[in-house]
Parts: sequence; structure tokens; C-alpha cells
Amino acid sequence: MTSQPSDAGSAAAIPRLDFGRVSVFLGEKNGKYPDGNQVIVRGSDTRAVLDTPLVANRIGPEFDSADIVVLGHVHEDHLAGLHRLPKAKVYAPDADLEAARSWEALGAAYGTREEHLPQMLEKFQRDFFYAPRPDAIGYADGAVWDLGQVRVEAVHMPGHTAGHSVLLVEPEGVAFLGDIDLGGFGPYYGDTTSNLADFRRTIARVPDIPARVWVTFHHRAVYTDRGRLLTDLAAYAAKIDEREKRLVELLAAGPKTLADLVACRLLYPADYQELWVEDVEARTISQHLAELTANGRVQVDETGLYRLG
Ligand SMILES: [Zn+2]
Repeated sequence: MTSQPSDAGSAAAIPRLDFGRVSVFLGEKNGKYPDGNQVIVRGSDTRAVLDTPLVANRIGPEFDSADIVVLGHVHEDHLAGLHRLPKAKVYAPDADLEAARSWEALGAAYGTREEHLPQMLEKFQRDFFYAPRPDAIGYADGAVWDLGQVRVEAVHMPGHTAGHSVLLVEPEGVAFLGDIDLGGFGPYYGDTTSNLADFRRTIARVPDIPARVWVTFHHRAVYTDRGRLLTDLAAYAAKIDEREKRLVELLAAGPKTLADLVACRLLYPADYQELWVEDVEARTISQHLAELTANGRVQVDETGLYRLG
């Protein structure tokens, strides 16, 4: 991976990689949350930006002159540059469309409790310049944007959210993987619209994407080595199995309710306190328990007590 400083004024400090008509601007710490990495596609007719992380606010005219925004999915850290593009057409995957259009739908997608919504909205407005886009337009699997001498194609790869899509840029062969981020935390499937089984299938399909360059929104940023991508993808998938193994170990120590298991924490450290942590833990653990009960490894009684089967 190579990077060169951009030549544009305020963007001078932003590392940038170019692949033909595609540019990747790296956010703080390679796009570690709350930041992300910005992909810009310069067609001969149309300029597209793929998602809009915080770093978009420091890029300048190369971002601010975008004609369209294609969101691979709808989460606050991917919307942080939208406020700079009030006239751009904003596209979101059909299953995430309402979340792009209104705060009510975004809050529901996160599964945020009613009493936490005002505080969460305030945080998003303060930290991510959040504003809904009631003008957002939906797109389906296989949607294509012809930008002039370069095209973007949507590949629906759900799990992280229901609409989550990989955006493939041709002929450059750049696949924007979004939040199939290959980071050390592992796959996130803790929203109400997330789905563990879908995420497993999505990970299995990543090697089939006909790309030569892979870009993640967070952390890993850019892969040009397929072998390294596959190694990191395997480690990423293994995090799901590690979580399952930990749950089985917790149940081996004695029967537990969902609340007991949430208190043990599967994803986050015990001392990590955010408004949403327990709900995300509960949704994540519930999906693993559903798999384990379906395949007979775990049984649940009428009081909601889970034990090894
Ligand atoms: Zn996300």
C-alpha cells in the first residue's frame, strides 16, 4: 500500500490512494470509528462519492463537487458529509432507505429505546453533522450508475444492515466493502435490521466479487493483495465462531437467561458503558442462541433459561 499527500490546500494532510478514476482518502487512523475512508469516483460525466465519512469534511472541492452520493448502507458514521451536498442525489439501498430519509426510521433500525432517542440524536448532530435526507432514492441489488467511462454496481450483501451493499467500480475493479470491515472487533450484527445468518453468507461470498482492489470503510482501508484479503476475511469470520464458543462455555458453567448472558458480555468489555450496549449485546446473543437451539446444541425452557442440550 502506498500513499501520497494530496496537493489540495486543507486536504494536504489526508493520505490518498488512486486507482484510475477512483480515489480513496483515508480518514483518521485509517478510518477508525468515528471516522471512515472516503471513496470518490470521477466519471467523465458524473462525480460520485461512496458513503460520506467525517474525513469528507476536510477534503475540499474534490468531495464538495460531487453530483451523487451512493450509500452502501445507512449508519451515522457514513452520513457525516451529506450536509455538504444538499443538491446531490443521494442513493440508499432499498432496505435501508427509510433510515436515510428520517430520524424515526434510523432510530428504529438501531433499536434505540424511546427514552434514549433525544440523547442519541443530539450526539449524532454534534459528532456526525447528522441530518436526515427525505429526498434519498432507493436502489436494488444489481443497480448500476454509469458515470461516464466508469460505472458503479451495487451488490446486495446484507447482514450488517438489511440493505448493506458492496459497491463495485469497473473497469478499475475496486470493491468498496463498506462495513464488512475485516477489523479486529469482528462482524457487527447488533441492529434490529442486522442478521447473523445473512452476514455469514455475505462473508462467504466476498471472494467471489470480481475485484482487484478492496476498500473497507474502517481500519483496514485498502487491500491490493488477494491473499492478504482472504487471510483477514478468514480471521474476521472466525470471530463469529469465537463468540459462539464463548456462549457455549458460559452455558457449560451453568444455565443462564438472556439477561444473565448479556451481563457476562459477548462483544464489549464489562466496564464499557454506552446507552446502547446492553441492547446490542442482547440482539447479538439472541441470534447465536437461536442458531444453537435450532441445531439442538442448546435448549431453552419455558422460563427462558438456556442450558446445553
Ligand atoms: Zn455500519
